[in-house]
Amino acid sequence: MSADEGVYAYSAVLMGSPILLKLFDDNASLAAQVFRLIRHYENILTVNRAQSEVMAVNHAAGKEAISVSREVFELIQCAHQVSLLPESLFNFTIGPLVKRWKIGFQGNSVPPRSELEQRMTLTDPRQVELDPDRLSVFLRQPGMEIDLGAIAKGYIADRVRSFLRQQGVERALINLGGNVQTLGAPPQTRGWSVGLKTPFGNAEELTGVIEVAGKSVVTSGIYERYFERDGRCYHHILDARSGYPLDNELLSVTVISDRSLDGDIYTTLLYGLGVEKSLLALRDTPHIEAIFLTRDHEVICSSSRQFRFRLHDHRYRLVTDSTA
Ligand code: ADP
Ligand code: MG
Repeated sequence: MSADEGVYAYSAVLMGSPILLKLFDDNASLAAQVFRLIRHYENILTVNRAQSEVMAVNHAAGKEAISVSREVFELIQCAHQVSLLPESLFNFTIGPLVKRWKIGFQGNSVPPRSELEQRMTLTDPRQVELDPDRLSVFLRQPGMEIDLGAIAKGYIADRVRSFLRQQGVERALINLGGNVQTLGAPPQTRGWSVGLKTPFGNAEELTGVIEVAGKSVVTSGIYERYFERDGRCYHHILDARSGYPLDNELLSVTVISDRSLDGDIYTTLLYGLGVEKSLLALRDTPHIEAIFLTRDHEVICSSSRQFRFRLHDHRYRLVTDSTA
């Protein structure tokens, strides 16, 4: 814990990520409860260990339907719906590809195409049967694996915010390794400052700062977990349609929204759409706003009703969607 101008910061390492909680009270027991809550959700949602509710479903692939808790069922149902959207990069049955590439988990070589093709046959979200009465999930093909890695942190960030609200907390920030969720704003300010890291830069280097009050800020970047091979960068957002990491003009997508779960869903969806299609799609969703960082050093904001953005790194050019 450290205190700076009335802010009390508590940290932990959970879900393989540094977790930071900021409060305006010296309340270590509240912080401990928050970390316990995160650990609880990690325990039921993880696919990086042998046992969890999601792993029970995966272990039973091709064999039987498994009943899960209502919370896990609802999150799986949400992931299922998003995976079935037309043109969706998001695919919650991507597990067999994620496990083969192992990016972020010592993976450092490109798997043979034939193996990827074989695994792609196991990533069809239509092969998942959900039964809302029994809260059960059945993966029809043996070898299929659900992976909620793209949305677990967002979901948990929202649960933490609800818990803090119930406890009467009005101002707080939780950062789950890239997923930031906020309550209110620090005293005498208009918002929390959330740094946007410079892709492939030093840990401290910021492209800019996003200011928000009571909103979520989620960034998904190709520079977080990747390896390089023969001059190419292989990162952790995979495309189940090709078997390979998605390759387009984007370095990162940041989504500002009320729910961090939406932020997590949209960072993946928009990353898959690319800048042009994303800007069009976002015109119909005023509660979801995005900041794109591109390979040719542009920072593009879809709109900015719920946040303010200050550019720090002048190697980047700030562009706002003039047609929005
Ligand atoms: P992080 O915040 O940990 O960088 P993201 O939110 O960007 O993660 O999600 C990346 C994770 O989502 C991957 O590590 C993997 O578990 C999973 N994933 C990878 N590709 C996809 C995809 N196309 N659809 C859904 N989940 C994916
Ligand atoms: Mg995500």
